[in-house]
Amino acid sequence: MSGNSYMSSCGRCGREDALHCFVETKPFKYNSADCLNCGFSYYTKILVLKKDDIKKLRKNIDSKFNNLAKQEQKNCNDFDKDYFKD
Ligand SMILES: [Zn+2]
Repeated sequence: MSGNSYMSSCGRCGREDALHCFVETKPFKYNSADCLNCGFSYYTKILVLKKDDIKKLRKNIDSKFNNLAKQEQKNCNDFDKDYFKD
């Protein structure tokens, strides 16, 4: 266990030192917090994705990075055009 807790300002009600925060870093990063003033609360959701959900996620991430790679290539081409014109 490598958890750490501290008090912080609440992002909802704005009360200073009302948000009790907890952070765990191992075996993965886990955050939770509870506001002792307004009740605002959040935590890291832990679950295991189903195979179909993993496939969808991979598709989305692949297309996102492919689009970024295309954009970067376009930017490089634009740069080359500007650089070599006179
Ligand atoms: Zn609050």
